[in-house]
Amino acid sequence: DPQLNPIYTFDSFIEGDSNRVARRAGKTVAEKPGANSFNPLVIYGGVGLGKTHLAQGIGNEVKRLHPNKVVLYVSSEKFINQFQDHSRNNAINDFIHFYQLIDVLIIDDVQFFARAEKSQDAFFAIFNHLHQSGKQLVLTSDKPPKDLDGMQERLLSRFRWGLSADLQIPDYETRIEILERKMKNDGLDMPKEVVKYVAYNINTNVRELEGALISLLAQSSLNKREIDLELAKKVLRNFVKTSSKEITIEAIQKMVCEYFDVSYDKLLQKTRKREIVQARQITMYLAKAFTKNSLKTIGEHFGGRDHTTVIHSCQTVKDLMDTDSLFRENVMELTQKVQLAAM
Ligand code: ADP
Ligand code: MG
Repeated sequence: DPQLNPIYTFDSFIEGDSNRVARRAGKTVAEKPGANSFNPLVIYGGVGLGKTHLAQGIGNEVKRLHPNKVVLYVSSEKFINQFQDHSRNNAINDFIHFYQLIDVLIIDDVQFFARAEKSQDAFFAIFNHLHQSGKQLVLTSDKPPKDLDGMQERLLSRFRWGLSADLQIPDYETRIEILERKMKNDGLDMPKEVVKYVAYNINTNVRELEGALISLLAQSSLNKREIDLELAKKVLRNFVKTSSKEITIEAIQKMVCEYFDVSYDKLLQKTRKREIVQARQITMYLAKAFTKNSLKTIGEHFGGRDHTTVIHSCQTVKDLMDTDSLFRENVMELTQKVQLAAM
């Protein structure tokens, strides 16, 4: 089966809170295609979170458990191209007929159907026929069905007949497991502290996680050196830079104001009120830690204070963090918020 890649299996699809519902529903679908309440099964989620892997895993599992069933995996782009070819040759009925003979139809990335009206008409006819005949449909999408603009309402309402399950970013523990499985499959080894470091820092999607691992291996063999934490930090620095957003002083100011429930004007005012002075000092400290702005520029963003004020503020924050545990907690929590916003 050329469309199904055998490396995409359930076994290699690590389960975690981020994908449990979708993975288990997929398993049920593969065991009892057409004879379950997940018809269609719609799997949705952002880029690199495992939609294609899981969709192909279902296809491969059906082939394994039910060798006589006809399984077809196709991307929506390919479906549309095929449809348009048949349409030009006045062979739309052949096209629809071909698809109506399938037992398990898997269409990847249905968001590309948006605004392809004629293809949607054909898909609608195929969907109805298969569903009525007790055949299984599996669809993936980069957004929840309700947000699929440009998709006919009659199709969207059919998507609701079954189950929509999402894939989210795997949590830290799951990311470690994914990395370890990947290494095992490829016969690789690296220190646990490096695995943890990569899993902790790459928290965007699984494709990036795999990309980081590949870069790490490439750098290691290129420089003929062992993979250690130092190399990982060097490699990931480039990685994180390209994938992370620039955070601005204004954005940090806004976050601190919200956190302490202080108005922006108050934050900049000359006041001796302790809460406000501390909120301002924390903001400067975070601006220095998370933006590339000079001390001078940071000072200017606080009503034209000079760079020595910024230095003093950063030092005060560091000192207070050592002595005041509530203060420290506040700063840590804010730090996390800023880091999240910069992702
Ligand atoms: P999508 O189709 O959502 O963009 P893919 O299915 O192409 O994402 O997944 C990207 C990469 O991440 C693939 O190499 C896939 O095998 C891997 N991957 C995603 N989720 C998992 C998981 N839970 N366990 C193991 N590998 C995963
Ligand atoms: Mg995909």
